[in-house]
Amino acid sequence: MIVQRKCSSFRGGLGWLAGLVLASQIGASQAMPEKAADPRIASALQQISAQRVQADIEKLVSFGTRLTLSAQDSASIGSGRGIGAAREWIKSEFERYSKDCGGCLEVKTDSFTEQPTDRIPKATEITNVYAVLKGTDPAQSKRIVLVTGHYDSRNSDTLDTTGDAPGANDDASGTAVSLECARVLSKMKFPATIVFLAVAGEEQGLNGSRHFAKMAKDQGWELEAVLNNDIVGGDKSAEQDHSLVRVFSEGVPVAATEQDLRRIRGLGGESDSGSREVARYIAETGRTYDAGVKPLLIFRLDRYLRGGDHSAFNQQGFSAVRLTEYREDFHHQHQNVRTENGVEYGDVPKFVDYEYVAHVARLNAATLASLASAPGPPANVHLLTKDLDNDSTLTWDASPGAASYEVVWRATMSPEWEHAQSFGNATKATLKVSKDNVIFAVRAVDAEGHRSLPVVPAPQR
Ligand SMILES: [Zn+2]
Repeated sequence: MIVQRKCSSFRGGLGWLAGLVLASQIGASQAMPEKAADPRIASALQQISAQRVQADIEKLVSFGTRLTLSAQDSASIGSGRGIGAAREWIKSEFERYSKDCGGCLEVKTDSFTEQPTDRIPKATEITNVYAVLKGTDPAQSKRIVLVTGHYDSRNSDTLDTTGDAPGANDDASGTAVSLECARVLSKMKFPATIVFLAVAGEEQGLNGSRHFAKMAKDQGWELEAVLNNDIVGGDKSAEQDHSLVRVFSEGVPVAATEQDLRRIRGLGGESDSGSREVARYIAETGRTYDAGVKPLLIFRLDRYLRGGDHSAFNQQGFSAVRLTEYREDFHHQHQNVRTENGVEYGDVPKFVDYEYVAHVARLNAATLASLASAPGPPANVHLLTKDLDNDSTLTWDASPGAASYEVVWRATMSPEWEHAQSFGNATKATLKVSKDNVIFAVRAVDAEGHRSLPVVPAPQR
């Protein structure tokens, strides 16, 4: 069966124009229906609750400070103040969700001692908390998708261990996304594994995520996608756009080898890192499911000269993106709570839009559920270049769980995939489209239509 379609247009881009040029050039592109939503996933999204998000954020704020250097002894945990108490509460929430699904979640901690750095005056124990929803298909359960947020907070002084640091938006909001995704998706089963993570140490230098990403690398995790939610509170400033969430992704991978860089330079691969394919996948998911918020892709690692936990995963060679509200209000970030000249400073709950956070959680859950339902991305994807010709022949290995494969492509200057053609369960395809003029990728599709991440081919002579 061969079905070809023109992918839908995207916000603000010129892809439609490129699509028209390409259509006339190849004379084959036809409209094809939008990717259909999976009713199971769509109904799970309905379970995500702004009230739950609000309760989670208010609870996290109630610990007073969650600075990584704040108290974590048993007395402070008992009194409910400091990062230790926050950590224990997050763990107990994951355990509660697990109880509700018959023990389906494995709740774990990743603890280590960080030696002194400029933002860590003395050796400090840092603990990441996570829950694992193990995949049900033995052929696919090693594949992992992960959602994360940082539960540590700070005020104006990164070393203030006792002063209030409510961190409602930065990043109780992202922690609430991990929690809500865990609560709702743990009621479902997926062939691949989903990990729900809350890290500490972000504000001291990405210490928690760096340790976790290295552990994943050392243990050989097949981590396909990391969604980092940091500052997704939808701050209620006048210029906020509550309909959008930014998705940041690296271009040239920080972990690229010299050989990778040669290929990227030679073939025009600057915009096809694994992280960028994840970003495009989120954009497509945002069109398939009505999460209440639309992803706005930003082709940049992070906000200008700023950083976040996804980059710690990128450093280890994993595909990872950052989701952040459309417009940040810096009066409400990394500030002591106070009023000066009529301006309110501080990251307190009243500036957070809980409905918005729930929308972002829905977009995350739809992406995690789609990826964990899909077959693994095809391996050994090649574009044959033995003969000089104007057709393009691609080959790939069969993927466990795949019922069919699609070749997708776009004009070289287009941000998103514009065309898709199904080739049934073949592992080789020839298209009447010149490899010189477009960027190709191949993705695996299961019987219900769940798509894997697309894989850009390597040239094969
Ligand atoms: Zn943050």
